[in-house]
Amino acid sequence: MNLVKKSGCGRYAPSPSGDLHFGNLRTAMLAWLCARSSGRSFVVRVEDIDTQRSSMESAQRQLEDLAALGIDWGREVVYQSQRYELYDAALARLRDRGLVFECYCSRKDIQEASRAPHSIPGHYPGTCRDLTEGERRERREALVAQGRVPALRLRSGLRSVGVRDALAGEYVGDVDDFILRRGGNAAQIGPQGPDWAYNLAVVVDDGEQGVDQVVRGDDLLPSAPRQAYLAGLLGYAVPEYVHVPLVLNERGERLAKRDGAVTLREMLETATVPEVLGSMAASLGMDGAGVRTAADLLEGFSMAALPRAASVFTGV
Ligand code: GLU
Repeated sequence: MNLVKKSGCGRYAPSPSGDLHFGNLRTAMLAWLCARSSGRSFVVRVEDIDTQRSSMESAQRQLEDLAALGIDWGREVVYQSQRYELYDAALARLRDRGLVFECYCSRKDIQEASRAPHSIPGHYPGTCRDLTEGERRERREALVAQGRVPALRLRSGLRSVGVRDALAGEYVGDVDDFILRRGGNAAQIGPQGPDWAYNLAVVVDDGEQGVDQVVRGDDLLPSAPRQAYLAGLLGYAVPEYVHVPLVLNERGERLAKRDGAVTLREMLETATVPEVLGSMAASLGMDGAGVRTAADLLEGFSMAALPRAASVFTGV
């Protein structure tokens, strides 16, 4: 096989809120195959910034499952919960440039305002963007009196950004004043402060880890323009994006835990690792015969030949 010699790094970045299912594992495999087949190194990052839903036990099980399929990673696993200083530093850089503002809106306020004429549904309508200092003080005090802390948002300079995706091609998506750090109920906030937002953490981590290839499910394609824009503001190179089609259940919905034996441990009750890999290969239009571990799939792998449509999981 011809490995293109190239430095650079790919990654898989699961959120540890339960076992990975067949679709998640297939995405992890694709991330590994894309990295390895292009001569890149590969890292795994545990995205445990959602303190309510993440657990170390779940992270450990996810890492064991990846390893069982033969996916390996070169450096130590990085945990987002140990990188708050980096997120703080990035936020400070944005703040120094006047690009951060406090937002006092509830979810309901935003939903209602984004339904107004000329608004983009779901888009942050800019309610708190240009308040005077007096208005801010008033809103902050009212929020604090309810036991809540404000969220922090990015003062975005545009409304949409285009990115290039290796599978989807040119993709233009909305960029609003998205959240950098969550607000919420003060009583539930731990000593480390409010949770960091996914978009900020992912951009800082990809930038700091030298990740130049992002392979993940295509449900995250709409987040790529926001992330590419933020990467630019923070001085990081925009990575190559490869958003891969999801795996669906038999009803055409996104595969989920309730769809039967979908986690690796469940599948291994009746099948072997090579059988699971064979089924993964088949769902990617690859030949899975004789495949015993991830490395065996590398031989016939071509990013250009990846399916562009979702596939349906009917069991191993
Ligand atoms: N942690 C995210 C998830 O599990 C993925 C983030 C990413 O790949 O950018 O859905």
